[in-house]
Amino acid sequence: MPGSIAREQDILQLAPPKRPPRLSSRRIGIHTSVAGGVENAAERAYRLGCNTFQIFSSSPRQWAPYLLSRRQCDEMRRLREQYDLKPLVIHTNYLVNLAATNPLVLQKSMEAFRGEVERALALGAEYLVLHPGSFRGRDREAGLRQTAAAMAAATEQLDLARGSLTVLVENTAGAEYSLGGSFEQVAELLDRLQGVLPVAACIDTCHMHVAGYDIVDVAGWRRTLGRLEASVGLKNVRVWHCNDSKAARGSRLDRHEHIGKGKIGFETFRRLLNDSRLRHAAFIAETPIDTPGDDQRNVATLRRLVVARDG
Ligand SMILES: [Zn+2]
Ligand SMILES: [Zn+2]
Repeated sequence: MPGSIAREQDILQLAPPKRPPRLSSRRIGIHTSVAGGVENAAERAYRLGCNTFQIFSSSPRQWAPYLLSRRQCDEMRRLREQYDLKPLVIHTNYLVNLAATNPLVLQKSMEAFRGEVERALALGAEYLVLHPGSFRGRDREAGLRQTAAAMAAATEQLDLARGSLTVLVENTAGAEYSLGGSFEQVAELLDRLQGVLPVAACIDTCHMHVAGYDIVDVAGWRRTLGRLEASVGLKNVRVWHCNDSKAARGSRLDRHEHIGKGKIGFETFRRLLNDSRLRHAAFIAETPIDTPGDDQRNVATLRRLVVARDG
């Protein structure tokens, strides 16, 4: 879950950087505020030192759709081109629950998800990240089946196959009724959607850790990546959410922490960023902003962890 921006000192109010941020061979970015209009996020991301970024295209905790103007979409494309910002990742609204048992919630979720896809297409985004939902009130298999069916039905006739947008299913912290707490559940959803929608995965380091995967110790990290390769497939992980964790392994508590300052630590992020099998992916932080500049510092930390000979 991306951090709050309430106490952020807006980087748009500061003077622009004198020298452009040095390019990295890895795509590294952070969830960026869309205050003042979605297109402003591109300028912010650039100033934060990113070459990729993530945004919300609507208010993350409200159902009301957000209408994008043609001008905003054009401006977003222009700024991304100018600053070489790619991919653009959009995170769906948190209220969307495609596994919902309540028909009204399901209906609203499908409409909201369709709106997310429409806005992602209008903005020219490469990826739309979705949490697979909560199956409270039924068994998990039925929840997975419904989520897959609802994703397909909600996007009917949007002709996703012709565009460059891929929907990414994100692994979750493994809370009692939430889908996606294991790689196998993410893989099952991807299998069900094969040939129906362009789909792949987004893997969050904090969620892996609190869901119980060992990613801290070297042998544990190797085993965990082996399990990910055997289920989802490493090449199918297009975005890594890089978040350290305030909570202990297996706690199922989703509390993001600054890179290197939590229970995961720097070494895991160094291994992640320098694994040649993961070079195709984008690495995006969703870390908190406790003091002004925390966003810039977390991006800089991720960039520093890329070993010099590679980047
Ligand atoms: Zn989270
Ligand atoms: Zn995440």
